[in-house]
Amino acid sequence: MAGNVVKKIQRDNESLPISLVQEQGPSIAEHVKQIESYDPVSSLTKMLERPEMEHFKLDWNEATIPPSPKVRHAIHQYLDGQIGLNIYPMLFSNDLRLRLQAHVGYPSDHIIVTNGSDDALDLICRTYLNPDEKVICPYPTYTHFILHARSRGAQVVKLTSDDLFNMTIDEILAAVTPDTKIIYLVNPNNPTGQTFEPEDIAKIARQARHAVVLVDEAYAEFAGISAVSLVGEFENVVVSRSFSKAYGLAGLRIGYLVAQPAMTKELMRLYNPKSVNQIAQVAAMAVLDDLPYYERYIEEVGKSKALFGRWCGSRGIHFRATPANFVLIQVERVKEVVAGLAEEGVYVRDRSGFTQLPNTFRLNLGTLEQTTEVIRRFERVLKRLEIIE
Ligand SMILES: *Cc1c(COP(=O)(O)O)cnc(C)c1O
Repeated sequence: MAGNVVKKIQRDNESLPISLVQEQGPSIAEHVKQIESYDPVSSLTKMLERPEMEHFKLDWNEATIPPSPKVRHAIHQYLDGQIGLNIYPMLFSNDLRLRLQAHVGYPSDHIIVTNGSDDALDLICRTYLNPDEKVICPYPTYTHFILHARSRGAQVVKLTSDDLFNMTIDEILAAVTPDTKIIYLVNPNNPTGQTFEPEDIAKIARQARHAVVLVDEAYAEFAGISAVSLVGEFENVVVSRSFSKAYGLAGLRIGYLVAQPAMTKELMRLYNPKSVNQIAQVAAMAVLDDLPYYERYIEEVGKSKALFGRWCGSRGIHFRATPANFVLIQVERVKEVVAGLAEEGVYVRDRSGFTQLPNTFRLNLGTLEQTTEVIRRFERVLKRLEIIE
């Protein structure tokens, strides 16, 4: 079959004008040539290779518990219902948008539901960025965002501070120029955990009116802090949220953004109203129906952070808590420790590739029971490597 197709194309070429016959295949866009593809971690594969083992996937900050029983029930009910998977999902996730009104405190014209919050970040980049415009992000940051910005040919200004965990608003404002188009603030920041108060973000929004202030709140539920209140006041503020972290739906890909209608209207130009699958929409609505389940989990993650911190303290291990669900650990021979942990079925994220975070890895925490077992395995690895006694 394939051979026939090739032959046919070759025959067609013979009749093409000579100028259309190219020696080389299509070349990719110039600014895409500068981009290295995102390097995903392979822990899921490792987990599947050893099905008999209890694994702790703590490398991508996902929730460590399954979705609430109500969510699973809602998904089953949908699958058994009259409208099946052969039908496109509800356009614009309109039912969910209505449900999100009360959750975020704005009418649904302020809300766009996206295929994961990654998709919201991409939509904002595609809508606002011209080639060579500048995007400022306190650095280290969530690196996937940089890819979206670069895909538009924008220049990413990686802003670093001498005080890694305490960058100031003034440092950010000092970097703003007339060609700054987006200021990307992850709040709390991944991986440093630094968290700005809404008043600080308001200061940036007020002084950089020509720029989009994009506040990535993937971990806001854990931190209990949000810039969503600024949306009403500033037409250049947009907040992105995720159902992947506190709400445990990473596998379904759903998130949303909140901004004034002046901005959501512009974002709708490139928005694909059927990009969010129906199962994700159904599940997200069920999450909103069962928030106490998630609040209990968030509270327990807080206790796990304290437990883990106390244990690190007792062993002289460098530990930094964050307001999100993850913590940072600094340890000698970090690569060996990370590999040793994987061997024990504990997957963490080596962040020592950031020069600002030498010998550092990140891990997210879950329930107290899970954390107790993680500590046990961590201790085993450190003893084996003779890092602790
Ligand atoms: C995990 C993460 C995301 C991705 O969220 P999705 O909703 O799963 O796309 C976005 N931003 C930050 C900072 C994250 O850590």
